[in-house]
Parts: sequence; structure tokens; C-alpha cells
Amino acid sequence: MIICKKCGYENLDGALYCNLCKELFSKKVKKMTVADLPSELKSQLFDQQKKIEEGSMAKSLFSGIPKKKLLTLAIIIGAIIVLSLLAFLLSKR
Ligand SMILES: [Zn+2]
Repeated sequence: MIICKKCGYENLDGALYCNLCKELFSKKVKKMTVADLPSELKSQLFDQQKKIEEGSMAKSLFSGIPKKKLLTLAIIIGAIIVLSLLAFLLSKR
């Protein structure tokens, strides 16, 4: 039952406007905000948001480094690993 604020007429549930005076019922569409969520869900959401932010931060960190530099870095690290492995194998003999 929706009681018209203007004329007091009792309208059926789900009525979009008053049957008597045609006053529109502005349905209060409550916008869901984070504050409306239960605290348990809220903390989960915040955790997720934090993770996403951290992820995007890591991404931006990586995107901040030119790909060429990353490649050379990878090659250098790979060379170091190979060389140390070789040195280890040679020292064993
Ligand atoms: Zn009315």
C-alpha cells in the first residue's frame, strides 16, 4: 500500500503514480554505498580493493620500466645464473 503524500489516497503497491491526483510517486531508489554493507563484507571489499590497488601499482611500476631495459635485465640475470652454474660445475671437477 502506497499512501499518496499529496491527497492521502491509498494506492496499490507498485503504483507509479497516485490513482486519484496523478501525483507521481518518486520511488526512493536508495543508492547502495559501501557504508550500507555489513562490516564483514565491507572489510572483504576493502581487502579486495587494496589487492587491486597493489596489483595496479605493481603493474604501473613495471610499465614504468622500458621493455628494452627489462629485457637486458633479464639477459643479465640469466647470464649471471648460467655463469655461476658453470663456475660451480667447473669447480667440482
Ligand atoms: Zn494523490
